[in-house]
Amino acid sequence: MSTGTTVTPTKIVCVGRNYAEHAKELGNVVPEHPLLFLKPPSSVIADGDPIVLPSMSQRVEHEGEIGVVIGRRLRRVDADATLSAVRGIVCLNDVTARDLQRSDSQWTRAKGFDTFCPVGPRIVPLDALPPLAELEVVCRVNGTVRQQGRASDMVFPIPHILSYISHIMTLEPGDLVATGSPAGVGPLEPGDVVEVEIPGVGVLRNPVERGS
Ligand code: ZN
Repeated sequence: MSTGTTVTPTKIVCVGRNYAEHAKELGNVVPEHPLLFLKPPSSVIADGDPIVLPSMSQRVEHEGEIGVVIGRRLRRVDADATLSAVRGIVCLNDVTARDLQRSDSQWTRAKGFDTFCPVGPRIVPLDALPPLAELEVVCRVNGTVRQQGRASDMVFPIPHILSYISHIMTLEPGDLVATGSPAGVGPLEPGDVVEVEIPGVGVLRNPVERGS
């Protein structure tokens, strides 16, 4: 793990298919309940660190997402009580080896490579931000906008997601929740620079390198 990271989670809990348009672009239906998967803490890198493309994959894609950092332990909490336990919002890139996600029946390999979870550049508390539903996320590659999403377009809103997770596993301080990717995911090539911006939070910028 990079020494410059803003977070040291015990786990990263991600929500799949949380924007209807993104579910559609990958040929999936919108799930009835939040679809959860984990990324390992070892995948976390900081703003500026390189995303390393593994030789095992021929197609690695960006997923710019709104990240939630937990501030206080959450266990079996109702949705309306979750937000007081949130430390803040952070930009997150749920980097995914799409070919391996399609070929493997579960996603640990596709989502879990080292450097596959850029997080940063800072954590901004909720009281310094507009209302949660108004948060936006934009993902650019080499300056071109690839993804744009708004929290109000999420299938499951953030408090619902946090409550749902907390009824399955205890969320610890520092844990990260990746709230899903808007439509527009696409490939990353060596030499690219990928940016995830949440207006009011900042811009997370990472170069892309080929692994050995
Ligand atoms: Zn994702």
